[in-house]
Amino acid sequence: MKIGAHLSASGGYMAMAQTALAIGANVFQFFTRNPRGGAAKPSDPEDTAKFNAFAAEQGIGPILAHAPYTLNAAGAEARVREFAEATMADDLERLEYTPGAMYNFHPGSHVGQGAEKGMELIASMLERILAKPYRTTVLLETMSGKGSEVGRDFGEVAEIIRRVEPNVATPIGVCLDTCHVWDGGYDIVGDLDGVIAEFDRTVGLKYLKAIHLNDSMNALASHKDRHEKIGKGHLGLAAIGRIVNHPALRDLPFYLETPNDLQGYKEEIELLKGLVKC
Ligand code: FE
Ligand code: FE
Ligand code: ZN
Repeated sequence: MKIGAHLSASGGYMAMAQTALAIGANVFQFFTRNPRGGAAKPSDPEDTAKFNAFAAEQGIGPILAHAPYTLNAAGAEARVREFAEATMADDLERLEYTPGAMYNFHPGSHVGQGAEKGMELIASMLERILAKPYRTTVLLETMSGKGSEVGRDFGEVAEIIRRVEPNVATPIGVCLDTCHVWDGGYDIVGDLDGVIAEFDRTVGLKYLKAIHLNDSMNALASHKDRHEKIGKGHLGLAAIGRIVNHPALRDLPFYLETPNDLQGYKEEIELLKGLVKC
């Protein structure tokens, strides 16, 4: 099982790898920079070189870099869109030091311009940046549909991929967040097979590269996006057990983004490993 959690990037890659092992993880996620925006720390080629060797030796990865929340390719103001484009390009340049990483971003919020306009802005930004062949796979995250979020259903995610993929040199895919899709109205508790079949019909399972494994504080279709600890929310432990064992999902990397400290993550990872049927 590929399982890990969101870790602090403040100590660098080697520190994250050590932390991952200490909590029983073999993958991890981190923010590329302050999640509210701002400059990234300078790259540390010595740290990434050590990390690459250590990760290969210990079987750690794929690692998942998460873009800042303020990155909005679908913003109404040019300044917002320019920040998104410069930030994503800069993040991908830095990730060249850790080949095989994945990069997850929230597609954006159309802020009243409409989903169609939002998808168009996101697709055109991706086409410009990803014309360059990066070694990182870029993932669109499925969103809960809070506010004017784009990517609120599989159809919107599929539409962006369909427009972008033929025109780019960098691989793209999807990160499915279990809290977000539940809050977005997909009943992964009552009908997991049906939801996965719908994902396959609209997006295509070959694009599914990662799972954000979270329980949800809210009810189906609440469009809230409040993560809960594993087994303590509206998904519950039985449904989460079916998710980690599902044949279409079980070989994907799972990243916890539950409200926990490291000890809490360690306990959740142990719990989840116990649910996996060999
Ligand atoms: Fe996210
Ligand atoms: Fe997420
Ligand atoms: Zn979320």
